[in-house]
Amino acid sequence: MERAPRIRRHPRARRIKLRVDPVTGDAVVTLPPRVPEADGLRFVQHHRDWLAERRAALPAAIPLQPGVTVPLYGQDHVIDHRPDLIGCHHDVQRRCIVAGGPVENLDRRLEGWLRAQARRLLIRRAAYFAELVGQTVNRVRIGDPTSRWGSCSSTGTLSLSWRLVFAPRFVSDYVVAHEVAHLVELNHSPRFWRVVDTLVGDPRQARDWLKRNGAALHRIGR
Ligand SMILES: [Zn+2]
Repeated sequence: MERAPRIRRHPRARRIKLRVDPVTGDAVVTLPPRVPEADGLRFVQHHRDWLAERRAALPAAIPLQPGVTVPLYGQDHVIDHRPDLIGCHHDVQRRCIVAGGPVENLDRRLEGWLRAQARRLLIRRAAYFAELVGQTVNRVRIGDPTSRWGSCSSTGTLSLSWRLVFAPRFVSDYVVAHEVAHLVELNHSPRFWRVVDTLVGDPRQARDWLKRNGAALHRIGR
């Protein structure tokens, strides 16, 4: 379903700009000061074909619904809806995510379950990597940032994307190790990369994977 364009203002914008949000597929219009909103909406109308092309080029949205296949730890899993059961669980043998209860709000319950799996995995790996470099993680926050997979504050709080639960382990391990390495070096100096290397080896494969597949992970549950 197409949603209304999002309108932004930018004090230094010189002309109307239009882009497609790669996560939601929404049209985002940036207006210079004093340009009326109606002009922005007309601009969107005028570029409908361009918008449709850009939306079509996005990775497909994958709703969390019965019968749909989603990656879990990098392997395809089918969502198996079993109304007679309670809660969700991972059926490793059948490569299924079994989701119990009514079909109403199934997507919300599945996302909640996936976030819980992410939290468990990422906290465990953060503690493991931190111990290897003689540091302690103050706190791990699991969120849904769209511009990066993780970050590390100067107070030792790691913030990580719950969507890493979809990625292969070498990828989620790289992101966690990267942020843990910032507990040692709060920069991207050669010393920082040496710490990353001691934790997970050469990070290039994981970085490439995120470049190629990252956008698709943001389209799951949309
Ligand atoms: Zn970094």
